[in-house]
Amino acid sequence: MTASRITNLWSKVHYNPNRPVSRVVVESTTPFQFDAKESPSGITLIAQGARANMYCETIEVYDGLIEWIKVEEHAEGVVFDIKLNHPSPWRISCEQGIPHRTVISFVRDHLLTLFAKKVIFIDPGHGGNDPGGKGPVDLLEKDVTMIMATALQDLLKPLTDQVYLTRTQDYPLSQWMRCNLAVKMNAHIFISFHTHHSHDAAIQGTAVKYNPAAPGCASLARFTLEEIVRKIKRPSRGIEPDPQLRHLGLIPGLTVEPVAISNWVEEGLLRNPTLYRKIAQGIFNGLLRFWGEKKG
Ligand SMILES: [Zn+2]
Repeated sequence: MTASRITNLWSKVHYNPNRPVSRVVVESTTPFQFDAKESPSGITLIAQGARANMYCETIEVYDGLIEWIKVEEHAEGVVFDIKLNHPSPWRISCEQGIPHRTVISFVRDHLLTLFAKKVIFIDPGHGGNDPGGKGPVDLLEKDVTMIMATALQDLLKPLTDQVYLTRTQDYPLSQWMRCNLAVKMNAHIFISFHTHHSHDAAIQGTAVKYNPAAPGCASLARFTLEEIVRKIKRPSRGIEPDPQLRHLGLIPGLTVEPVAISNWVEEGLLRNPTLYRKIAQGIFNGLLRFWGEKKG
C-alpha cells in the first residue's frame, strides 16, 4: 500500500453565522489514519504512515487564536503541532475529494466574548485638502489610511456591531473632532491610521504612538507594535506618547504608522492588498492581548 502524501497545509478564519472558527486544513493524496491529542501548547495531529510532499517547517498563522503550526516528518508519519494562545474546543472532519482534506476546526467563542459590546473607533488620518504624506511614486497618505481603516473594520465587523469610522469620505477633519466623536460615543478604543513621512527616504518601519492620559495605553501600544511587526515584518521604530491623543481623556487611543510612505520599498508594499489585511490582524492581536490581559 502506498503512503498518503501530504501536499499542503493552510489555515483560515471561517465566519459561520454567529460562530467563527479557525480552520486548519491538511491536504493529502489519499485519506490517512489520524491521531489527535491535546498537548501543552495546543493540539498535536499525527497523520499516521503519511509522508510529506511539502516543506516541513513552522507556518506562522497569528490569527488571534492559532499562533503557528509546526510540521515534522517522523517514522510514524507526519506530525502537526498546532500552537494556540487560548484553550478552545475543536473537532476534526474529513472532506472527500482530490485532494483529500482533513480539517480541524477551533471555536473562536472567547474572541466574541472579548469584542462583543466594545465600541471601536477607527480613524483614517488626513482627508480632503489635507493629503498627508506623499510617496515617491505619488501615493497619498489620506488614501492609504482609508484602506487601512476599512480593512480593520472588515475584520472587526463579525465580532461587534459597534465599529465606527471617523470619516468614510474624502474630507478633512480636525484632530479634536476625530477624538470628540469617540468621546461622545464612549468608545473603548480609538485607532488612528497614519503613515510616517520624512525627507529622509531611508527611514522605514512601524511605529505606534499612544494616548499618555489613558492608563495602560503604553502596553497597548507595545503589544500592537509587536503584533504588527510580527505580521508585516518591517523594522520597529518603537512606541512614544502622542500628545494629540490627549483629547480622548481616559479612552485608550493609538496612532498607528505601519510603514513610511516616503520610503520607496514601503510605498510599494502599500500597493499590495495583503499588507492591509496583515496590519488589521496585527492590531486585532494587539487588542486581544490588551483586553485579554486586563480580564485575567
Ligand atoms: Zn499623517
